[in-house]
Amino acid sequence: MTNEQQSIRVNLCSSGKEKPQADQLAFGRSFTDHMFVMDYTEDEGWHEARIVPYAPLMIDPSAMVFHYSQSVFEGLKAYLNDDGEAQLFRPQRNFKRMNHSNDRLCIPPIDETFALKAVKQLVSIDKDWIPQAEGTSLYIRPFIISTEPFIGVAPSRHYQFMIILSPVGAYYEEGINPIKIAVENDYVRTVKGGTGEAKTGGNYAASLKAQEMAEEGIAQVLWLDGVERRYVEEVGSMNIFFKINGQVITPALNGSILDGVTRNSVIRLLQHWNVPVEERKISMDEIYQAYQEGTLEEAFGAGTAAVISPIGQLVWQEHMEINDGQTGAIAKSLYDTLTAIQYGKIPDPFNWIE
Ligand code: PMP
Repeated sequence: MTNEQQSIRVNLCSSGKEKPQADQLAFGRSFTDHMFVMDYTEDEGWHEARIVPYAPLMIDPSAMVFHYSQSVFEGLKAYLNDDGEAQLFRPQRNFKRMNHSNDRLCIPPIDETFALKAVKQLVSIDKDWIPQAEGTSLYIRPFIISTEPFIGVAPSRHYQFMIILSPVGAYYEEGINPIKIAVENDYVRTVKGGTGEAKTGGNYAASLKAQEMAEEGIAQVLWLDGVERRYVEEVGSMNIFFKINGQVITPALNGSILDGVTRNSVIRLLQHWNVPVEERKISMDEIYQAYQEGTLEEAFGAGTAAVISPIGQLVWQEHMEINDGQTGAIAKSLYDTLTAIQYGKIPDPFNWIE
């Protein structure tokens, strides 16, 4: 039986939890009433799909995930439109990327169509948890962990695929605000041939130290390539874009950069607007030179959590102020258009909404 033919067993909780107040929606702190779970064994493949009450797990302390970190995750959101319906933004790309991460981590692939069906069913069961205030949404966290009880470095033979949901507040309470970032010269996020292109927990554990060491007021660090330490890769856990002399540039996917859903959407929108956009290597020397010549017009991060995060100050050699520390016109248009599509406020010319 393929996963697609499998049905999802549903066991609803008898009474729901109290939902957080609209003004107390901290990111990733509260979770809805239900979760999706599915198991994998070598004999049965992915099986026993179920939606059950959200609860702690019983896992053997020797489960391989605790020791060798064989795990992957995804992050996307459900938005409530004006008709009160939940909409997802390009969810197929998340499950495609999850399978890409699975391949890198030697985790068996999931059925992407079935995973999408599962997420839709779970969101519809917990639909009352989607907050209604402007800019709020329901964060969706699919993840897979290796659960075989075995201490030995090898691919696990058992896994669990789960999806949990968390109501989240508006990322920017007073509209989008430019952030200050610093180039990280000592630590690297990943290297070519490593796991940078996969969404696996180890990448995030490895990134913590640089953020901790960064000076006060630095919202995120800008990661350089791990070999030459010259080329820009990402900013914090976002992809990065620069506008130099009318041209938008983002680092080309090179194996160590995550293929962001927002990154791809930004490129598609810019092309749609006939704004020149290039995916290529871009060095800090080039950016610094553009700054000195007065042609560094904008810089911004792009990712599901903040959508677009303008960069007002960039620290490298000196404190560079970009666009007078204000949000640039391209960053603003991208933010306004992407969020309007996500919340169903304007037509969706790309069929991005599910
Ligand atoms: N880079 C990294 C390292 C990330 O963790 C994320 C967040 N998933 C992104 C980029 C942005 O990706 P997306 O637009 O799919 O959220």
